[in-house]
Amino acid sequence: MSKFKPTKYYKSIFDVNFNLLKNEGIKLIACDLDNTLVPHDVALPDKRVIELFRYIKSLGFEVVILSNNKEKRVQLFSDELNIPYYYSARKPLKKAFKRLLHDYHLQASQICLIGDQILTDVYGANGMHIMNILVEPLAHKDIFYTKINRFFEKKVIKSLSKRGLFKVGNYYE
Ligand SMILES: [Mg+2]
Repeated sequence: MSKFKPTKYYKSIFDVNFNLLKNEGIKLIACDLDNTLVPHDVALPDKRVIELFRYIKSLGFEVVILSNNKEKRVQLFSDELNIPYYYSARKPLKKAFKRLLHDYHLQASQICLIGDQILTDVYGANGMHIMNILVEPLAHKDIFYTKINRFFEKKVIKSLSKRGLFKVGNYYE
């Protein structure tokens, strides 16, 4: 069950303590897109996201988008922020995480993934021993596949909270 427990848990990506991540030796932030940065039906980054990325970069982090969504969606969004992206990543599978480590010549311990889904983002990163941050989804509308994931996610959360490992809304860092 502990493979489903996020390393850190914040209400949103805008609440994350990036200075702390810096002190913890993180060099690269890999960001999920849909419902982490904007709702899944919003095509472009808003002002808040643009400012957040400017801030993250100013702290000296590398930053990429790591999304399971299709190329067109992820490219349009990432180009607007002028940052590299990985699309159709198929999280929680390890392939995209391995590519990321390879492309940036980094150790797993130097990367932090931020996302809104336990079954893809948290479980995938934990499988690679990559630090991960769970945030609440920005919108409660999901695409079909995510709806299926959310169904199982609820069961996982129930099981985690039974073991005292995780409780919705009990944020920690
Ligand atoms: Mg997401």
